[in-house]
Amino acid sequence: MTMSLCERCCYRKEVVSGKGSRFLLCQKSTTDHHFPKYPPQPVTECIAFEPTRFEKNATDDPT
Ligand code: SF4
Repeated sequence: MTMSLCERCCYRKEVVSGKGSRFLLCQKSTTDHHFPKYPPQPVTECIAFEPTRFEKNATDDPT
């Protein structure tokens, strides 16, 4: 299965239902109505994608 960009995005918020289903909420949707609250997964392209701070640090060039 293709990994969704949302999994690596700082705007993602994981929501788990009472039945244990996992949903990825896009927090960009709160400020921009072009983004669905729960984008169909997997997302493979997104103009608003921004890597999480953790991922940024892992890929930053230390020099
Ligand atoms: S901004 Fe794009 S990549 Fe990030 S959570 Fe929203 S839909 Fe996913």
